[in-house]
Amino acid sequence: MDLKKFVTIVDDYPKPGVSFKDITTIMDNGEAYKYATDQIVEYAQDLDVDIIVGPEARGFIIGCPVAYALQVGFAPVRKPGKLPRETISVFYDLEYGQDELTIHKDAIKPGQRVLIVDDLLATGGTVGATVELVEKLGGVVAGCAFLIELSYLNGREKLTNHDIRALITY
Ligand code: 5GP
Repeated sequence: MDLKKFVTIVDDYPKPGVSFKDITTIMDNGEAYKYATDQIVEYAQDLDVDIIVGPEARGFIIGCPVAYALQVGFAPVRKPGKLPRETISVFYDLEYGQDELTIHKDAIKPGQRVLIVDDLLATGGTVGATVELVEKLGGVVAGCAFLIELSYLNGREKLTNHDIRALITY
């Protein structure tokens, strides 16, 4: 299946000059959503994964069906103040300023093999911070899977020590 056909390009969103890749048109098509999920599940099968970690919010949409299919757990990574129990956090750089991501302190047990899943790899800031959170908790990042990679933003360079799979590349 040519998954790229199901991505909708929205020009000048969320701000002028940005060409936003809208994945809701993958999700709202049952066959495309299942195909995308199955592709990531297939990638994960060789990685001996114990748990999936996904950053909010679109990482949940992709990561949770993968966790279900693999019969492993899912741990959410969220913006500050959203998780109810004790968390650890990591700051990461944005184009202008900084942002912060958090995870529950007990979400990952030391030595667990983690697959990080998100909808899209752009500059790599989000996944880089997610890798840091996982590793702070003693987890082992077995791989990182995305629906889309914007290769011209060189996000892979932030992940040189990690295995990456993207289903669609721009
Ligand atoms: P990065 O941190 O790699 O620069 O940006 C990736 C994060 O921003 C992902 O969590 C993703 O959800 C979001 N993102 C950035 N650009 C886009 C886009 O064009 N489409 C979608 N669906 N998400 C984007």
